[in-house]
Amino acid sequence: MIYIAVNEFSHYRQAIIVQRTFKRDIQIIGTGLHSGRPARLRLKPAAANMGIWFCRTDISGCDNMIPALWDMVNDTRLSTGISNESGVSVSTIEHLMAALAGCGVHNAIIEIDGPEVPIMDGSATRFVAEIQRAGLVEQGQMATLLEVHETVRVRKGAAYAELSPLARCQIDFTIEFPGTIVGHQQASLDLCNGNFVHELANCRTFCRVEDIEKMRAAGRALGGSLENALVIDGDHYQNTGGARRIDECVRHKMLDAVGDLMLAGAPVLGQYRGYRAGHNLTNLLLQKAFATPDAVLLRRASPAELPLLPGPDLQDFALLRAG
Ligand SMILES: [Zn+2]
Repeated sequence: MIYIAVNEFSHYRQAIIVQRTFKRDIQIIGTGLHSGRPARLRLKPAAANMGIWFCRTDISGCDNMIPALWDMVNDTRLSTGISNESGVSVSTIEHLMAALAGCGVHNAIIEIDGPEVPIMDGSATRFVAEIQRAGLVEQGQMATLLEVHETVRVRKGAAYAELSPLARCQIDFTIEFPGTIVGHQQASLDLCNGNFVHELANCRTFCRVEDIEKMRAAGRALGGSLENALVIDGDHYQNTGGARRIDECVRHKMLDAVGDLMLAGAPVLGQYRGYRAGHNLTNLLLQKAFATPDAVLLRRASPAELPLLPGPDLQDFALLRAG
């Protein structure tokens, strides 16, 4: 087992104890992985305690706002999509949600003029870079967290996803692609102080070459290419240069889990374990956790806990205190 033990909080120069949003608007343009459709994103600052909301700016005459929450999820087939009561939806939100979670952004409005978040290079690199460039501002309100009190597990065949009590935010993931270059990959990471940015953000989505035609026949992966996905072809990757990291695939699954768990509405204080899990199992896990009495508790974080939560590496970020 690989334990990615990096960047503990020795560099923490000051406790960050409040919610954050962007200092300014961020604009990103790209193409959807599954729809193949172009979309323009505008990431805007939002008020404290608002959380993350998507706004479909190409739709008017009905409610076009969708809160990024676990109980708004309407699609987990190959990516994560959410929709509101008017049937307005946005898909493939997980890599952007992971960037927001991993950078410690608590409040944001994500305007988008199409049905799917752009895939960019298949990782969260561009989203993180733009968030870093814009910088963050503290909002004077204490951050919340979702504390895990009891182990909750969901399973489908051999695959499972689990939340367990732990006084840190830890992701542990295992994938198995026997007979391919991926093989067995396992990794574990605490999400404190910039670890998401340094260890997971640049890891790309992946697929097996034999699955591409099946996805296209189903009207999916229409925007997919070697520019935005790592393609597994037996004992090698089709992409020039191969993988960015030897265990890029499992790290991408961890990235997905960070994004899907952000739909809890707050960082999860506990351990997430995924074995061959995906968007569907992680969403079922949140559904079960919130439906199980006393399994999880949403509460304000204490100053002592905040260095343990996902957030920016203070050495990387232009972070200013409000006021
Ligand atoms: Zn992904």
